[in-house]
Amino acid sequence: MQAIFLGTSSAVPTAERNTVSIIVSTSEGQLMFDCGEGSQRQMLYAGLNPMKLKAVFITHMHFDHVMGLVGLMMTMGLLNRTEPLTVVGPRGLGKMIDFFERELYMNHKYELIFRSAEPGTVYEMGEVRVEAERAVHSTESYSYKVVQTKKKRKFHLEKARELGIPQGPLWGRLQVGETVEFNGRTIRPDEVCEPPAKPVSIGISGDTAYDDSLVRFFTGVNLLIYESTFSSELQDRAREMLHSTSTDAARVALKSGAGYLVIYHFSERYRDVKLLESEARAVFEKTTAARDFMKVEILENSIKVEQLQLRCAGKDADNKVGA
Ligand SMILES: [Zn+2]
Ligand SMILES: [Zn+2]
Repeated sequence: MQAIFLGTSSAVPTAERNTVSIIVSTSEGQLMFDCGEGSQRQMLYAGLNPMKLKAVFITHMHFDHVMGLVGLMMTMGLLNRTEPLTVVGPRGLGKMIDFFERELYMNHKYELIFRSAEPGTVYEMGEVRVEAERAVHSTESYSYKVVQTKKKRKFHLEKARELGIPQGPLWGRLQVGETVEFNGRTIRPDEVCEPPAKPVSIGISGDTAYDDSLVRFFTGVNLLIYESTFSSELQDRAREMLHSTSTDAARVALKSGAGYLVIYHFSERYRDVKLLESEARAVFEKTTAARDFMKVEILENSIKVEQLQLRCAGKDADNKVGA
């Protein structure tokens, strides 16, 4: 799995940072998390096709997380999307979508499936599932976790042949972990397959104050993407606004045993976020501060961070990001 940051600023966009949106690429297609204003154009700069989005997850109804959704929905309609689009978020999001569909005469051909977020599994497709947990913010807010489980196990042909199992559907069932009956004998997948691969996961905090429930929710994620609106010197302000500091983000990464931390959602007061990155690293070393168009990929035993080559007009912006 990989995550691409389309926007990394909190409430107010800057020349270097758009408001937040993250694309997670999975074995089952692309998922979007939050959709700040202008996110569809950021997708084009990043060389991503909005028509390929399977689902959009909104953490909460603050404008910097949701104002890009209506435009994106409209564009998909104009481009004749026919594949259904799932949208998950707080209840108010359903009302917002209904309002714009009616008042803007959206008339798109694709089916829009809205689901109210609640703690637990909110989306499932093939090998991928998305779970939600309540975050602690000034409005109904959720954190999300994407879990990808490789269902097909590594199959040893010679062992299957030794046991006399004929090539065909039985091989397929064993490979996805089913026990099968053959010639009056029970054959377990372990007899012909490697143990199942460990699931891979990405956690996304949305806006939230520190809370132990999120430490539990994010336990063992390979990649934790966590808001860091303020540096720790503005801790009191962060508490008051129900946001996190870079130190809070790092504490969650440390306590949850995350593999890697990327901090994002920076107040526009920080043109340079090195301070926030170094504060987080003092607590949790494996941390990077996100930049717009940064790609973070989960590899077998490591994390790869790179900056995307941009398409067309936004190209120069790539070199200006001060992070
Ligand atoms: Zn926000
Ligand atoms: Zn917010």
